[in-house]
Amino acid sequence: MTEADYLRVPLRERKHIGLVAHDGRKADLLAWVQDHRDLLARHMLYATGTTGALIHQHTGLPVYRLKSGPFGGDQQMGALIADGEIDMLVFFWDPLEPQPHDPDVKALLRIAVLYNIPTASNRSTADFLITSPWFTQPYARRIPAYHRRIHRPPFVAPAEPTETADAAPEAQT
Ligand code: PGA
Repeated sequence: MTEADYLRVPLRERKHIGLVAHDGRKADLLAWVQDHRDLLARHMLYATGTTGALIHQHTGLPVYRLKSGPFGGDQQMGALIADGEIDMLVFFWDPLEPQPHDPDVKALLRIAVLYNIPTASNRSTADFLITSPWFTQPYARRIPAYHRRIHRPPFVAPAEPTETADAAPEAQT
């Protein structure tokens, strides 16, 4: 692949940050938000339902809340990433517990990779991301230019069925 196979899509200076934590990781995510509260206050926070409620309650930060993860919140977050609304994802998923919405979890992580947004699934990575110079500066991420990669033959509609071929068989008497 060459440069021409990618689009350069800027991440905002004022980041839109997605926050998600499974129940076993909520305390870790909350501690991370509390430790970086002042910095995070300058950005826009989006979160799945319960995670967002917890963060707002304990930090007072405004959080745009989606549905709870098992009720579609992960899919909503993925859709926002695909629409270019989320610049960074901090998703503390639980490596020790299966989840009822594991397919949604996998889909969200896949979309985050596909759209090449910075993504942290543990405290160390989240600390690295938030202390990066790019966290407060514009950054041009590269995403594959799909319209240049998809070479499908033009769609040809099937011919309308003729009246004879379509007619119901005569009823037998
Ligand atoms: P929650 O969802 O913030 O509503 O708990 C998180 C998840 O399980 O994906």
